[in-house]
Amino acid sequence: GDNKTDFSVETNELNHIKKVIGIISGKGGVGKSIVASMLAVIMRRKGYNVAIMDADVTGPSIPKAFGVHECIPTSDIGMLPPKSKTGIEIMSVNFLLDNETDPIVWRGPRISAIIKQFWKDVIWQDIDYMFIDLPPGTADASLTVFQSIKVDGIIVVTSPQDLVSMIVSKAIKMANMMDIPIIGIIENMSWFTCDFCGKKYHIFGESKIDDICKEHNIRLLGRIPIVPELASACDSGEIENFKGDWLDGVPDALD
Ligand code: ADP
Repeated sequence: GDNKTDFSVETNELNHIKKVIGIISGKGGVGKSIVASMLAVIMRRKGYNVAIMDADVTGPSIPKAFGVHECIPTSDIGMLPPKSKTGIEIMSVNFLLDNETDPIVWRGPRISAIIKQFWKDVIWQDIDYMFIDLPPGTADASLTVFQSIKVDGIIVVTSPQDLVSMIVSKAIKMANMMDIPIIGIIENMSWFTCDFCGKKYHIFGESKIDDICKEHNIRLLGRIPIVPELASACDSGEIENFKGDWLDGVPDALD
């Protein structure tokens, strides 16, 4: 058959997942995990059943942002994903991969194995949108995900100081290779507004994102400013309470 649709891992027969969206970035620290979390929260607020598969081992950001800790209920039919306060189902490689000091050569294949297990052995019974927080860069784990799981689209997260044009080219190349559409780009840390004078500061320089989106015919899904409350919401497990309309245009793009 057609290679592009021969995914190596079947999902659990009980599962029903309508849309799978991979979140990628060129490097760490641009806010990929926080954006994945906010997207999940936005879709949940709209009433959808939402899941996050955290495949990023660079830090347990997702469990922390939602205040969900490693306790995976099991049943005789498989693992059940822990739920956040608002009912978002969360699985994290960081629940299972506890030894952060393992050499990277061990971690790579183990991450891949865990991701496959998440697809096969976790009961995702009725999910409208699953967001996968992928490791930064074109790591092994991302390739595993794209080869093993039917991903419906990719969202790229960048920040203004990124080498955006290179990241976008790489993302497009990977997406084309895997035959997955790029849904769009979200620029994070775009500006900071001073509480006192109301002035907007472009801390990381002026963004080039508009030009790049035009050049590659990719949609700019939204821009998020630097907001200290976002960082503290992540730190305290309260991301579900975030306020801000920066990503309100995204749900339409996910249809
Ligand atoms: P990545 O997943 O790309 O490595 P994270 O989502 O973990 O990045 O974000 C890195 C750090 O920056 C976190 O502490 C997060 O809370 C903070 N952060 C990300 N985006 C913002 C933002 N727009 N405003 C304030 N803090 C942010």
